Amino acid sequence: MKVITIAVSVLRENDRIADENRIVFSDNHVFVVNIMGSPGAGKTSLLLKTIEALRQEVRIGVIEGDIATSHDAELIHATGVPVVQINTQGACHLDAMMIKTALTHFDLAEIDLLFIENVGNLVCPAGFRLGESARVVVSSVPEGDDKPKKYPGMFRVADVVLLNKIDLLDVFGFNISIFKGDMLQTNHSAMIEIFEVSCRTGEGLSGWVDWLKKVMLAANPLLTADIGSEPLTGSGR
Ligand code: MG
Ligand code: ZN
Repeated sequence: MKVITIAVSVLRENDRIADENRIVFSDNHVFVVNIMGSPGAGKTSLLLKTIEALRQEVRIGVIEGDIATSHDAELIHATGVPVVQINTQGACHLDAMMIKTALTHFDLAEIDLLFIENVGNLVCPAGFRLGESARVVVSSVPEGDDKPKKYPGMFRVADVVLLNKIDLLDVFGFNISIFKGDMLQTNHSAMIEIFEVSCRTGEGLSGWVDWLKKVMLAANPLLTADIGSEPLTGSGR
């Protein structure tokens, strides 16, 4: 029982700081996307593709969470967008306090869209709100079609699920109906979106990019001048 009591108070404190972060983001008109998923699901690849598709229209920043290395942060840094690496020193998720600290290294007035790449893990990142505007779960075909059934907590909190490596569907005998059926069993949000994508071939990514533009515009109509006037064609370049 004690363990449970401690966990609850930690989560409550986390939620308090997440609310503070949310106010800071809102005051600065920053749309924040928390990207979660297993190691190797393709979170960083998705980020690189999304930056490529949106960087002409939207000012992007990235927070990279990793247990030890700075490898992913260096890949992002090479694109030229501002990136801050959080080295969790073994911790298996990001929390709101880590984000609050990382924010001091950004000029938020210069950012419209902030991506947070969470630590690769399908369990506890789901329990730690960061103050984000949207939660994205990246799942990939080689992980198998049973992930929503095995990790319902993660799929329950998702606003968007990206099923990545869709080009490998046949190789792995992945059953999309099972994946989607279990997914909709656990996630009852009327807004939930599932995109089937391949960060390798680019397939399906325009749907994701269009969704992102749509929700950003809904949250911040001031962006209309930059991205609202052109057709939402996504990453077709
Ligand atoms: Mg990564
Ligand atoms: Zn954890």
